[in-house]
Amino acid sequence: MARRRTSRPPPPPPRRLPHWRADGTAKTRFAAEGDANRAALAARLEHGSDLVAYHCELCGGWHLGGSPG
Ligand SMILES: [Zn+2]
Repeated sequence: MARRRTSRPPPPPPRRLPHWRADGTAKTRFAAEGDANRAALAARLEHGSDLVAYHCELCGGWHLGGSPG
């Protein structure tokens, strides 16, 4: 029986999702994903900014961030 070595790619490293803005102030915290998504949609409609909601492990809430690319 030939042993097949499955070459599974390693899982991507966990991305550091920031709790703070670049200027050091805390980001807006949303209690629920739905709230963050609603705010992201509003920002897109108002400013055309492409934001994504992500869960923050630091505060347990949700923040909005710019999607890379
Ligand atoms: Zn946070």
